[in-house]
Amino acid sequence: MAVTAAPAAVAGCPLCDSEGGELVWRGERARIILVEHERFPGFCRIVWNAHVAELSDLVETDRDWLMRLVTQVERTVREVMTPDKVNLAAFGNMVPHLHWHIIPRYRWDTHFPEAIWAPAQRDADAARIAALAQRLPALRRALAALPDGLSA
Ligand SMILES: [Zn+2]
Repeated sequence: MAVTAAPAAVAGCPLCDSEGGELVWRGERARIILVEHERFPGFCRIVWNAHVAELSDLVETDRDWLMRLVTQVERTVREVMTPDKVNLAAFGNMVPHLHWHIIPRYRWDTHFPEAIWAPAQRDADAARIAALAQRLPALRRALAALPDGLSA
């Protein structure tokens, strides 16, 4: 309900003050950034452009559009990064500005099967991380090509 009353930007909010990471796509309503390459190549965030705290603050058409975008980014990450699993998360406890994490996960990654915010389960496999990082240019290209209209 509050979407029209929500301010477009809030001073001091890191996702209002900056893109929040490496910008790979920007639409009228949201943007896609790449983050934490060193540990989790292919980790994307979808950030709602306006300062909104909760998914339920969005009007239905925006919420539906956002979930289509989340789905499309997940699909793109699967195609390019071929993870064993994709993790989707929306917390906003630290930064209460609506964003989704889309994280390709591998059985060998430092935290699998735990969440990436949990204690590490094993040491990083530098060779495998480096091999995955080679796919990042393809991921950037695929994400950059996403249509803003996202009807499916
Ligand atoms: Zn914000």
